[in-house]
Amino acid sequence: MDRCSHVIAAIRSRIAAFLDLLRRARYLAMKMASHVHLPELPYSKRPLPKNVAAEILSETSTSEPKLHEYFRRLLAAHGPQHWWPGRTRFEVMVGAILTQNTAWVNVEQALSKLRQKKLLTPAAIKTVPPARLARLIRSSGYFRQKTKTLKAFVQFLRTQYAGSLSEMFTAPTELLREQLLGVRGIGPETADSILLYAGNRPVFVVDAYARRILERHQLAQAKLSYEEIRNFLEANLPQDASLYNEFHALIVRTGKEYCRKENPRCSECPLRPFLPEATQPLL
Ligand code: SF4
Repeated sequence: MDRCSHVIAAIRSRIAAFLDLLRRARYLAMKMASHVHLPELPYSKRPLPKNVAAEILSETSTSEPKLHEYFRRLLAAHGPQHWWPGRTRFEVMVGAILTQNTAWVNVEQALSKLRQKKLLTPAAIKTVPPARLARLIRSSGYFRQKTKTLKAFVQFLRTQYAGSLSEMFTAPTELLREQLLGVRGIGPETADSILLYAGNRPVFVVDAYARRILERHQLAQAKLSYEEIRNFLEANLPQDASLYNEFHALIVRTGKEYCRKENPRCSECPLRPFLPEATQPLL
């Protein structure tokens, strides 16, 4: 095959791959690109909470690359991530509880065992003896604590919403968030994962990767609380659950592959062009 034929074959293959992506039912990028109105320069006009604005955004921040540019670059580099893995809303919620302080691969093992034993329903988790539940989720670590959290969650679901997830997800986001945070063992990251990935609510999940990337790019200071960072992200992005879904997943991927705690791989990272000059010699 001559060089010209090689080029034509490569172009055809890329077009075919692109069309294949469009055909996939769960392909979100086109959907998000078409219906999410991303803000123009400078940062969104939505007011930041008072105590956050001063701390997060420096005097020169409006000339920094904006969050939606980070998103677009990550999406272009990695494509849609198809989060959150889970066959039902309840499975997503159980996964959100089990993934605290452990790798997803360990959660998958636990979920698989629960699925095999037909325990992935609120009613089954309620009735299964704690010792048996703990054995089944052992791979996810902190399994005794997580057993208590699962039990506390289904108890909350039963007392507040008659055991119905559909009923629970009719509650206003702020109220439900507050209630979830009141369940023993559920912290902000878990509550927000449940709201976003099981409830499709526009709540940004702030994890260690998001914090690290924002700090290294001088968009957030180390002392900021979870709520302050969440408010910053939500105030500077359109309120859209599918956008937050994809963005969080892309951040996790970037954190795992490039923005590691030690020895970050900045030179290969898609966000390298946005890294402030002052930070570059350090990373
Ligand atoms: S460029 Fe470096 S600091 Fe920025 S996200 Fe990538 S690895 Fe992290």
